[in-house]
Amino acid sequence: MQGRIPTSVIVRAVLAMGLCRLGSLNALGQAKGSSLWRRWLGQALPSPDTIGRVAGLVDVESLRALGHHVYERLKRGKALMPGPHGLLALVVDGHETHATYKRHCPGCLERTIHTANGDRVQYYHRLVDASLVTSDLHILLDAEPILPGEDEVAVALRLLDRLAGEYPRAFDVVQGDALYADPRFFNWAVDHGKHALAVLKNDRRDLLQDAQRLFEDQPPRVVQDASPRRECWDLEGFTTWPQVQVPVRVVRSHETRQVRRQLDGQIEEEATDWFWVTTLPAKLVSTWALVRMGHHRWGIENEGFNELVNQYHADHVYRHEPTAMLVFWLLTQLCLNVFTAFFRRNLKPAARAAVSMLHIARLMLAELYLPLARAPT
Ligand SMILES: [Zn+2]
Repeated sequence: MQGRIPTSVIVRAVLAMGLCRLGSLNALGQAKGSSLWRRWLGQALPSPDTIGRVAGLVDVESLRALGHHVYERLKRGKALMPGPHGLLALVVDGHETHATYKRHCPGCLERTIHTANGDRVQYYHRLVDASLVTSDLHILLDAEPILPGEDEVAVALRLLDRLAGEYPRAFDVVQGDALYADPRFFNWAVDHGKHALAVLKNDRRDLLQDAQRLFEDQPPRVVQDASPRRECWDLEGFTTWPQVQVPVRVVRSHETRQVRRQLDGQIEEEATDWFWVTTLPAKLVSTWALVRMGHHRWGIENEGFNELVNQYHADHVYRHEPTAMLVFWLLTQLCLNVFTAFFRRNLKPAARAAVSMLHIARLMLAELYLPLARAPT
């Protein structure tokens, strides 16, 4: 019979698993003979089953406090500086962590999938994540699970309420995709002394059509000397969205870039059209800066979530239980934050240029595995 395992030991073990990018509790368990554990945990590595079970008992608030501690350290070290516009944006985004037809738990969301063999109920988990965009770091601040019956924007507001309390001066702008062109999101920003920025699509047809009509009469501002080439339109004072407490500004960016076709190597022009709606006034953020800020959201999608999922295995279901899943997610975020900050801010530029992040991760893995290779078999 195993004695009671402190949750702090489990947190440390999961952090080691994340930083070494092992991706499974079994892989972690196979490294139990490493001498690293005595130094890092002060005891032997618990079994994979125990780690999964005790992860469900970890106090989530203590993990959020740990995340806040890392944020404070980075802030004090001047690692979280705003971009040239002087503002820090908090990007909120929904993320589906996994889907299955088989096992489900009280935290599972459900949807019906129409298949050739009839309708099937699929179970899945989804959460809203909040990332802070600074000049050269994306820091994942917090996450909030979407519970059965809840809509994503309502959950995002619950997350924002918590962040406004915990990180009151960490961000100036709240930002999201087209789903967040929602009066609740914009009014939340106004009520909390923040600005809002969201992608504008057809779901806000009146506002979009109004902007499109007015932009037709306005010559674009052109940014020539960059790729993509951008033609931008920018107008303030729209009141076509009466549910929002303040008039809003709409910015359009028509972007063209030359791409080489994979099929025959020919160069062709690719065009995309972007609209954003915001409360940010032009005197605070120029058209160009707003377009850059708008595109940053995709940076989060590409760098943040993709890295979290592909490199850190955040979508892996280590244990299918709501608290354990959130604990593993928050700890994986913490790993990504600490590792990225270490790589970008601690390593000397020459060292950073010479090796990749993956190389550094492999060195950490070697630290764990080397004692195993040396141990008698
Ligand atoms: Zn579930």
